Amino acid sequence: MPQTKKEMVGFVCNKLTVLDEFRRVKVKGENTLRLEWKCKCECGNSVWKRGGILRKLIYKDCGHSKENKKEDTNQLAERLIDAVYGNLKIIEVLGYGKRVKCICLLCNKNTMVKKLDTLDQNSMCQECRWNINGNNKFIVPHSFMQMFLRNAKERNLDVTVDRTFLSKLFASQNGRCALSGQEIVFRYGKGRVRYTETTASIDRIDSNKPYSEDNVQWVHKHINVMKHRCSDEQFFNHCKQIYFHLKDRYESENIRQINTKEQQAA
Ligand SMILES: [Zn+2]
Ligand SMILES: [Zn+2]
Repeated sequence: MPQTKKEMVGFVCNKLTVLDEFRRVKVKGENTLRLEWKCKCECGNSVWKRGGILRKLIYKDCGHSKENKKEDTNQLAERLIDAVYGNLKIIEVLGYGKRVKCICLLCNKNTMVKKLDTLDQNSMCQECRWNINGNNKFIVPHSFMQMFLRNAKERNLDVTVDRTFLSKLFASQNGRCALSGQEIVFRYGKGRVRYTETTASIDRIDSNKPYSEDNVQWVHKHINVMKHRCSDEQFFNHCKQIYFHLKDRYESENIRQINTKEQQAA
């Protein structure tokens, strides 16, 4: 390690080589002077660097690698921000691209992803993953809730049920329509709920009352439209009427086969 000024000249600290030129700089807020050496970087830049730190070989270069990294990070950010992998949308690139901050589109919470190559079409935050793989595979997606609340507000309907309650209700119905017994689903695609393919809908059992804990049930969205403002019993009676009125027309063996094929194709 160089001790004297003479020994400092030509000293190599990583990509920096100390030149035969130094200056004394006043230290901010102190009454002392600091010795700085002019250095030549491998990249061609000349910079002033502190002697003590040069001697400890701490400087890597003039700062160009950091600048490059910053530039790389900016380029990476341009490519990655707003990209959606499964249910995760990238909102920030951190640590020179070592980590990305994402928003989980299922629960709307932020989550950090350390390995970019782990992102794929099944990505979601750890909490949602736990919920789906764990006890509660009936968790209602946040975006569905938002749509539901928005619609209710537009129709001036009071909502006193929350997502937790509705998820538990959905679980208690085993994910099936309360009226028809059909399985009802939330379809995820590109990180959002795809409403055209989602068949879940929340029905007010009594259409004169609000969305409250004792007045809601999960039904297939088509069933909900058909039920309109009927009570369950009125709706059932209509269905029965339709069934007896039309069964001869639709229940021949041929029609049943066609229907089955259509269902399979759907
Ligand atoms: Zn440099
Ligand atoms: Zn989540």
